Amino acid sequence: MKRLFPLCLSFFVFVISAIAKPDDLVNVEKEIPGIVLDIRYATTNNFTKQAVYPMAKCYLRSSSAEKLKAVQKDLKAKGLGLKIYDGYRPLSVQKKFWALVPDDRYVANPAKGSRHNRGAAVDLTIIKKDGTELQMPTPYDDFTEKAHRDYKDLPAVAIKNRQLLEDVMTKHGFVGITTEWWHFDDVDWKNYDIMDIDFEKLK
Ligand SMILES: [Zn+2]
Repeated sequence: MKRLFPLCLSFFVFVISAIAKPDDLVNVEKEIPGIVLDIRYATTNNFTKQAVYPMAKCYLRSSSAEKLKAVQKDLKAKGLGLKIYDGYRPLSVQKKFWALVPDDRYVANPAKGSRHNRGAAVDLTIIKKDGTELQMPTPYDDFTEKAHRDYKDLPAVAIKNRQLLEDVMTKHGFVGITTEWWHFDDVDWKNYDIMDIDFEKLK
């Protein structure tokens, strides 16, 4: 009996992990009530000028979504909230980006994949209660130096808002990248594989 218990436990863990994979992606809109989506790649309002997503949805790994929920809660207490531009991105879409812009200054090479392909990265900004965006250094997907996290030749309010976003995201388990003020990776992104599940197949 003593020997059976760990065996049962490992079987249980195996079953749970089998259920949780490969698509432990959750619908962020359902998980985080009140979160605002502006999924640019489902519109022509993005750097490719094409709608590359079939629908305006945001999916993330469930643990990343949990972290983001805590961010939203913190901001809500300040009368603010999150607006998401992008989350999980199927690898097939990454390939489409690469075909349009084969330049790794702007697009992650699909051979390596993007952390968005792992469902463990999110592009976002902060909004007020009325839905207006806080002033940030640049619009979304501005691929200039102005969007760099350490860029300083900006109005004080844009620097303050960029810092607010960085502080609240890092507090809850995300880490920024140097070139895009709007992009954050889940600190545990390495734990997740690259996926190529179409949006239509997700709930
Ligand atoms: Zn991003």
